Amino acid sequence: MALNRIVLFYAFTPVVDPAAVRLWQRALCEKLGLRGRILISPDGINATVGGDIKAVKAYLKTTREYSGFKDIDVKWSDGSAEDFPRLSVKVRDEIVSFGAPGELTVDQGGVVGGGTHLLPEELHDLVEAKGDDVVFFDGRNAFEAQIGKFKNAVVPDVSTTHDFIKELDSGKYDALKDKPVVTYCTGGIRCEVLSSLMVSRGFNEVYQLEGGIVRYGETFKDEGLWEGSLYVFDKRMHLEFSEKSATIGACVRCAAPTSKFENCSNPGCRNLALYCAACAEDPATLLCPQGCAD
Ligand SMILES: [Zn+2]
Ligand SMILES: [Zn+2]
Repeated sequence: MALNRIVLFYAFTPVVDPAAVRLWQRALCEKLGLRGRILISPDGINATVGGDIKAVKAYLKTTREYSGFKDIDVKWSDGSAEDFPRLSVKVRDEIVSFGAPGELTVDQGGVVGGGTHLLPEELHDLVEAKGDDVVFFDGRNAFEAQIGKFKNAVVPDVSTTHDFIKELDSGKYDALKDKPVVTYCTGGIRCEVLSSLMVSRGFNEVYQLEGGIVRYGETFKDEGLWEGSLYVFDKRMHLEFSEKSATIGACVRCAAPTSKFENCSNPGCRNLALYCAACAEDPATLLCPQGCAD
């Protein structure tokens, strides 16, 4: 049986002709039988593709021939082309959609003026040095933090990444502007943008967790500052770093501990809510408490 893999990567780098890069990436993936999702903008590339492992390696080798993409840091995971409905290669204003394409500046070295990158060990050094002064700032959609987050993290009220600008400009977090703030997200890409938006808004000491929660979890599992499960955007929905993982989510119906989100049973609604296995038994009854239940 052929070995299959999924690969994820991003790069912030000036892309002079995104339309040409799109055609090249599309033709390359088609030739190699890969499927997945690739976004290209004038500021870089964000890709998740899957297929035969030899084809994926050939894809990466050719992709790295583009000078801006030569140092891409890739993450491998289990999966195949079948995990994607199709191949989608698009040009967008942004590779992560904050609704602020004009605010980001990138050069050959990546995002200009972003937060200082911290590896998992360096994050621990910072906390060791500065203690409780360090503020963790969740860079994901708020619902994701219901099942896992850094201890005492600030979780902004955002339902999509687009909401961050409004949140930051609301003044709610101004008291953090003179504190050491560490942004974190699933794989690090959202923090590249979020941390730069914070720096340009007067946050004086901003750090970002390099490689995101994924790399932190690989390094420290449940022996560090992380609490709970990690929400993931594929059919697994959540993953745990070890058997010692705490369950911090609660069923919206009976409050039993759970890490399992279910789709709202109203077909027109895209909300997710947490349910325990017993309460989720009849999928037709899962009207979300954020609006459909009343
Ligand atoms: Zn329940
Ligand atoms: Zn609903």
